[in-house]
Amino acid sequence: MPAMPERSSDSALATVTISARGTLRLRSGHVWVYRSDILSADGIAPGALVKVSDPQGKSLGTALYSTASQIAIRLLSRGRVEDFPALLRQRIQEALGYRDLVVRDTDAYRIVFSEADFLPGLIVDRYNDIVAFQVLTQAMDSEAARQALVSELCDRLNPAAVVERVDPRVRRLEQLSPRNAALVHGENTNTIFTMNGVRFHYAALEGQKTGSFLDQRENYAAAAQYAHGDALDVFCYQGGFALHLAPHCSHVTGVDSSRPALEVADQNATLNGREIEWLEANAFDLLKDYSVAGRQFDTIVLDPPAFAKTRKNLDTALRGYKELNLRALKMVRPGGILVSCSCSYHVSQAEFLQMISEAALDARKTLRILEVRGQAKDHPVLLTVPETSYLKIVICRLSN
Ligand code: SAH
Repeated sequence: MPAMPERSSDSALATVTISARGTLRLRSGHVWVYRSDILSADGIAPGALVKVSDPQGKSLGTALYSTASQIAIRLLSRGRVEDFPALLRQRIQEALGYRDLVVRDTDAYRIVFSEADFLPGLIVDRYNDIVAFQVLTQAMDSEAARQALVSELCDRLNPAAVVERVDPRVRRLEQLSPRNAALVHGENTNTIFTMNGVRFHYAALEGQKTGSFLDQRENYAAAAQYAHGDALDVFCYQGGFALHLAPHCSHVTGVDSSRPALEVADQNATLNGREIEWLEANAFDLLKDYSVAGRQFDTIVLDPPAFAKTRKNLDTALRGYKELNLRALKMVRPGGILVSCSCSYHVSQAEFLQMISEAALDARKTLRILEVRGQAKDHPVLLTVPETSYLKIVICRLSN
């Protein structure tokens, strides 16, 4: 969108002037400007809607400002925005329209994925008749934004409940007052959602993230296509992969260190009439024990938490991924399947594939790649904002 000429009517918004480097970044299609590229932002309130201009005073658009984050500016529009709550409502409608196009076989999916839905700092997930949202920035934490969000979600989806989920670490970093997860509309905190024909319990005020890992939905179905025999789902949480593999396998074991996650996993197995063995264990120790004992499997899924939280610990993270994949590869029978995931944005797809090939060489296994995949399409990737693409999954078959 071309920049609009300045007019006196938008003088109500303060202007943040950014450096030539920041300008280049926005012109390249990114939407973030780091604090080190801010030339002047004196006295601007936390979460303010601001005009952004280049060093020559030319307008670059309208953004949300944070006084706390290293990402000081998140661009909302390359044009003018006067009414942020109205824009938020409009963008939720657009986000829902996009889901109509890409979401199939489920009543649980991400409705708003922050920057990728042009609503930086906002996550909204739907679990059947319950909608869960999470606020990650000062601007999205304002009363006006919250009211617009909840009322738009209620108008469009008529949910039984809307619940706010909280990431305390993010709130601290963004200097937001502490909050607890809470119902903000309705009374229901429990429901059952379905993906790919598999049913899951949802407890709106419990669990990790907004309650589940919806980004793997399409990957569950992909992995199930190839799974067979004796299967091991490592880092299984509430059983997403394990439950999808069960109809195709003779035995499935799920491993996680979180007891509450495994309790829900077990209820999910009952709900679907499946028998799955759940093990509460540190996955690294368990894999070590299994390899010493010479255990073998036909299908192994590895879906660990993000090892690389920053670019700085990338090497350590890659070593961790390699160790894990090496151990698993040694335990997969000839003709068996490895499903290996990484949700670290800082590990690129090329680095991830390289790591797996090194692990395979060390394990003396030959792999054929069946599929290289990413996050489900309801977690869209914005081509010019690489940070929106974070999940990598490789499905491969070991040669005989
Ligand atoms: N595969 C899951 C998501 C996994 S998220 C799904 O599709 O739903 C990562 C999981 O790893 C979390 O459930 C967390 O409890 C678990 N975890 C973290 N560290 C662990 C460890 N050292 N050993 C076993 N599980 C661990």
